[in-house]
Amino acid sequence: GGKWKVALIGSGNWGSAIARLVGKNIKERSDEFDTEVKMWCYEEDFDGRKLTEVINEKHENIKYLPGIDLGDNVVAEPDLIKAIEGANALIFVIPHQFIIETCKQLEGKVPSNTQAISLVKGVDVKDGQIHIFSEVIKEHLDIECAALSGANIANEVAKEAFSETTIGCRDIEVAKRWARLFETEKFRVAVSKDVLGVSLGGALKNVVAVAAGLIDGLQWGNNAKAAIMRIGLLEMKRFALEFFPGTEPETFVQESAGIADLITSCLGGRNRKCAEAFVTTGKTFDQLEKEMLNGQKLQGVQTAKELHEFLKARGKADNYPLFTFVYRVAYEGVKPDTITAHI
Ligand code: NAD
Ligand code: 13P
Ligand code: CA
Repeated sequence: GGKWKVALIGSGNWGSAIARLVGKNIKERSDEFDTEVKMWCYEEDFDGRKLTEVINEKHENIKYLPGIDLGDNVVAEPDLIKAIEGANALIFVIPHQFIIETCKQLEGKVPSNTQAISLVKGVDVKDGQIHIFSEVIKEHLDIECAALSGANIANEVAKEAFSETTIGCRDIEVAKRWARLFETEKFRVAVSKDVLGVSLGGALKNVVAVAAGLIDGLQWGNNAKAAIMRIGLLEMKRFALEFFPGTEPETFVQESAGIADLITSCLGGRNRKCAEAFVTTGKTFDQLEKEMLNGQKLQGVQTAKELHEFLKARGKADNYPLFTFVYRVAYEGVKPDTITAHI
């Protein structure tokens, strides 16, 4: 079809890194993509000014991605509806707990030929049902929605350190277009038809990364952490195959969205960092998120709760001992050092 006009829904740590990457790429591919990128920014005050104003003046998200030039074709917009006006390609990149309220504001306002892609890592659990966010977005907005996920710590991607990622998309032509939008020499894209596997890898590894952080807090060393990664990866794969029929098991062991994201998150992610501090400080995860992340959001602890709610309703919590253990540590006071008795 014609040109794609891209808008980002989200401007956090990953949102800003992706805005920069896409904005830069688009300048070189202006035959295929409109060169301006609107970035919806959930407005807040920063040093007595509106964050969007500061972003548009400095071309830098000084709160969520400080020190990185976003480029002058990335424009922050506080009004959600204005941000998507005229766009026919939407990138959803906000913490998973805010997707539904955001989609509700967009209902009926998105043309049906719009393409979307979800970079969100999480699952939606409601009334005993579980869905990936590509499905949630598709249901709310009646548009197609692909997924992008991988071993992509935002600060590293923003500095153009080498990373791989995986795009899950059933329509191969659309997948190739998304790949051209995101791919650079330093950000390598693989394309897969397994939207479920790509999405679930990113969602479920957040819970495993919490467990890995607990191991760091306990100072149990690298063998223990590697064991958690192995056990966690198998639990992720088993969960996906049981509750999302059609998921391709290979995605978990072959794609960046599987094992590689698990590894990088267990080594260097925010879930890991806060879980380590949970052990060493005795503070709650809510407190630690506020104190350590400067407005960024933890996804793993809440995902553990959502998975637990889903599994418990089906009488299956005991079949997923690592997920259940993370939930019990975060919400029921179970001691981290009892992990070997549980998993
Ligand atoms: P973040 O953790 O930086 O979260 C902060 C953002 O949330 C800010 O833009 C803030 O304005 C916004 N926010 C706060 N309240 C809101 C509300 N009520 N409605 C909408 N937005 C609100 O966000 P992020 O790092 O961009 O993460 C977005 C998604 O991308 C998450 O699912 C995350 O797991 C995933 N992800 C993150 C990274 C990373 O390294 N940061 C990498 C890959 C994927
Ligand atoms: P954290 O949210 O734990 O930092 O993980 C980031 C991520 O998804 C890296 O791919
Ligand atoms: Ca519908």
